Amino acid sequence: MANAYGQALTGGAELQPGEPLPNLSPRESEESGPRPSGSPGSSRRRAYPLPGAGYLLDSALFIVAYVLVDWLSYLQPVLQLGITPWNPQTGLALAFLIWQGPRGAAAVALAALLSEVVVRDVPAGSVAAIATSIWIAIAYTGLAAVLRRKGRASLVSTPVDAARFVAACLGATLFVGAGFIAIMFAMGALPGDVALGGVGRYWVGDFNGVLTLTPLLMWAPSWRKGLAALRARRSEVLLQFVVLGFTMWIIFVVLADQALRFFYPLFVPMIWIALRWGVVGAVVGALAIQIGLAFMVKDVGAAPPLFELQFLMLTLNLTALILGATVSERLRAQAQLRERDEALARAMRFATAGEMASALTHELNQPITALVSYLRAAEILATPGEERDTRLPETLGKAASEAIRASAVLRRLRDFYSTGQMARAPLSLATLCSSVCGAFQERLRRAGVELTCNVSAVLPAISADPTQLEIVLHNLVANAIDAMTAADNAVKRIEISAEQRDGHVHLAVADTGPGVATDIAARVFEPFVTTKPGGMGLGLAISRSLLRAQGGELEFREAGNGNGARFELRLPLAGET
Ligand code: ADP
Repeated sequence: MANAYGQALTGGAELQPGEPLPNLSPRESEESGPRPSGSPGSSRRRAYPLPGAGYLLDSALFIVAYVLVDWLSYLQPVLQLGITPWNPQTGLALAFLIWQGPRGAAAVALAALLSEVVVRDVPAGSVAAIATSIWIAIAYTGLAAVLRRKGRASLVSTPVDAARFVAACLGATLFVGAGFIAIMFAMGALPGDVALGGVGRYWVGDFNGVLTLTPLLMWAPSWRKGLAALRARRSEVLLQFVVLGFTMWIIFVVLADQALRFFYPLFVPMIWIALRWGVVGAVVGALAIQIGLAFMVKDVGAAPPLFELQFLMLTLNLTALILGATVSERLRAQAQLRERDEALARAMRFATAGEMASALTHELNQPITALVSYLRAAEILATPGEERDTRLPETLGKAASEAIRASAVLRRLRDFYSTGQMARAPLSLATLCSSVCGAFQERLRRAGVELTCNVSAVLPAISADPTQLEIVLHNLVANAIDAMTAADNAVKRIEISAEQRDGHVHLAVADTGPGVATDIAARVFEPFVTTKPGGMGLGLAISRSLLRAQGGELEFREAGNGNGARFELRLPLAGET
């Protein structure tokens, strides 16, 4: 893929507008399965002097980060337990557990306990603190195990993955919240009348924490690439953050007392970011809003409690995540199609080069051999001392005519032979056609052409080389698009249809363009016959020879009604050749 996207992946040139961010999911750089729990970072990471030191160091760093994040986000705590409306430390813990596997549980329990001491001053006593810390660690280790089963790479990279992630996190955070409140209630740290409300409050904080932070942390190995891509489109990024920041300032500061009513405009910049950057942008944008929300609202006395805003934030998070994942999937599919398009064009060029080489060899071999023989004979006849031979001019004349013939062959090369490299296999035409149609989506859209593919899946399998047949179809559809674009037709339609007849499958590519020009209609399959300014006139010649070499045929017919072209392919059934 020689486009900017590819370059950005390999070190970063400009991205085109609408190009996806480099795939920040680890999908690219690693297997989708979880890494063995013994190698949290990767073998490329730092080498530790002591066995197990890596794990200990990672755990120590994690614990410090957990307590710090909890302390920073310790805003508007409620109930006597210090339950906060946003718990990013839970997102951090979940990411740590997905990386480390079950052996990370001890560090999570320790971090939660330390946080209780440092941040909350153990409001319910040390036994309750120990019990809830262990509970949090066990429950999130379970969630991490479920998520690891799908592979870290696919946490949110498609809408289905994102929906699964959301569902798993929703269930687990509710479960953890209920357990936490139950433990506190059992220990007498919480009166029964507030227990139920406590579950909701605990849950929304943890759920938002996980949604905003875990996917982002899972992309950590690709952050550098992501930043390079952001830099490549920095003015757009800047504009998006200015718009986002301004909207947040209006809602959370200027209209703080009505922030619940005016929350919804935040969806506009969020959707804009998700549409442009896919799931990565969605997650980063959601995190930015969450941080803005937490820190802007806390200073405004008249503002509604953060907890109430967090429920709205949850809706925004979910929308952004699913929309972002959908956009990412579409952008990935487009990039794949572009790659395939280029691969096909490359194959086409190779096929052309191969065809030309074999035709040249075939056609020029004979005149050149004759030319060499005549010149040798002339050399002997012209040897000094010998009597002048009357056959010399005649021999030189023959040599000249062979040279002229060779150059004539070069000018009007007409026979193309297939390279003979084929991999024929039983093939479903419906699948092949839909793959060709898919590859043209972008080009069709640009040209304003409608392509319909009426190829029934119940048609019997044909026998053909899939790549070569794809080249032929690609060629025909490209020609049809070119013809309709050049003529600027009002109705631009291409129809691919197929039927079984006389022991063959007949496939037709018909368009509503101007039809093949009458002066070349009879020679349209001859090489170098073209009406396009930059055309080589080889596409149809090669296509026909590729098909013939596989026992098929390619013919041209007028589409009827005085306009449009129709090319018909006859293809042998599988098992009949
Ligand atoms: P090239 O595309 O390089 O011209 P092709 O062999 O693909 O070579 O096509 C030869 C010529 O046949 C084209 O230049 C065009 O004039 C004509 N042609 C092919 N397909 C169509 C079509 N669908 N409608 C009108 N003319 C066509």
